[in-house]
Amino acid sequence: MAHSDLLTVPFAGAPIFTRSRALRPTGKVLPEHARSHNRALVLQTLYSSGARSRADVSRETGLTRVTISDLVADLIAEGLVVELGQREAARPGKPATLIDVARDAFQIIGLDLSEHEVFRGAVTALDGTIAERIELARGGATGEAAALLVEQLVDRLLALATIPVLGIGVGSPGVVDPLGVVRSAPNLGWVDLPLQARLAARTELPVHVANDANVAILAEHGETAPGELLLIKVGHGVGAGLIVGGRPVIGGGFAAGEIGHVVVGTDGGPRCACGKDGCLEAWVAEPRLTAQLAAVGASRGSSVGAGDGDTDAAAAAARDEILREAGRRLGIVLAPVVGALNLTEVVLSGPADLLDGAFHEATVDTLRQRTMAELNRDLRLRMSEQAEDIVLRGAAVMVLSGQLGVS
Ligand SMILES: [Zn+2]
Repeated sequence: MAHSDLLTVPFAGAPIFTRSRALRPTGKVLPEHARSHNRALVLQTLYSSGARSRADVSRETGLTRVTISDLVADLIAEGLVVELGQREAARPGKPATLIDVARDAFQIIGLDLSEHEVFRGAVTALDGTIAERIELARGGATGEAAALLVEQLVDRLLALATIPVLGIGVGSPGVVDPLGVVRSAPNLGWVDLPLQARLAARTELPVHVANDANVAILAEHGETAPGELLLIKVGHGVGAGLIVGGRPVIGGGFAAGEIGHVVVGTDGGPRCACGKDGCLEAWVAEPRLTAQLAAVGASRGSSVGAGDGDTDAAAAAARDEILREAGRRLGIVLAPVVGALNLTEVVLSGPADLLDGAFHEATVDTLRQRTMAELNRDLRLRMSEQAEDIVLRGAAVMVLSGQLGVS
């Protein structure tokens, strides 16, 4: 590699791929890493900008032609980059050969283990487009039974893959360390489950495991790509993914974003599965909200004169208030986070029938009431548009980024 290329490698703290807004690596860029960074830079450029000539890539990355030719030769040998033929010549002379990421050469397996009723999985293209999907009913399985179900899901997805699989990405509930050990996932009864190692040994493929909200935010990051982004994921539990300064925040104990068991306020509240009263999860988690709404529906159905206008209106108001109260509680928990980090964008991911309405309004109102006007002028709280596929798509980004340095 030409020495001058080392100088073009951005150093820690500087955005590596500002143009395409990729996630920034979390470590320092040392000279011995320059080659892999350059390689990622080439892949990133092709991935986000499409087919190009080697000369284009050289221009856009600032790397020398020689370095690009070198890297591209290796990438072609590995099957990650393909030559697409020659560009129509605009000028006399030899037309340039176009190269691109081998978009059709690999698929990715994504798993979402965060839901109450089902384990979800998909075979996706490199860009996260879902080719095949499978849902396995969890049937309340926990511990080893749940782990076996995950293996079964992976086996079935691998059987559906039509081309080589680049890797497997898993979004798991709970606290997951960087080695893919699920340190603790109470809802699944997992303690120190080496999920990454176990699936890697079984499949002989690269496997990446992370907390489901941290995976979900990777799918959103590709869409909006601000330097700061907070994603709140409401499902079986409540979790958050956080990107600050373009970097995912994992936390010293790998539990960043675990806001579900933060107690909201000092006025008590519903008893939580963890034993405390008034945890965010006890107010906001999907099973809790659904049960509360069902209780209102049931009392209406059994009351005398059910179906008349007044009772219907009263039940609707009661349901609205349940959602509004939950939204307020979320706003109370988020306000200091939004204030401290000066966040301008918060994304809500979860069932739209519960979140996109009174709940959302109450969260926004509460955030505005509780943060400085100068801070919240530009604050946006929006629903994720990725619906139930958010973790599956994020898992694809995680694998791509982990294996190729591309996102
Ligand atoms: Zn709790």
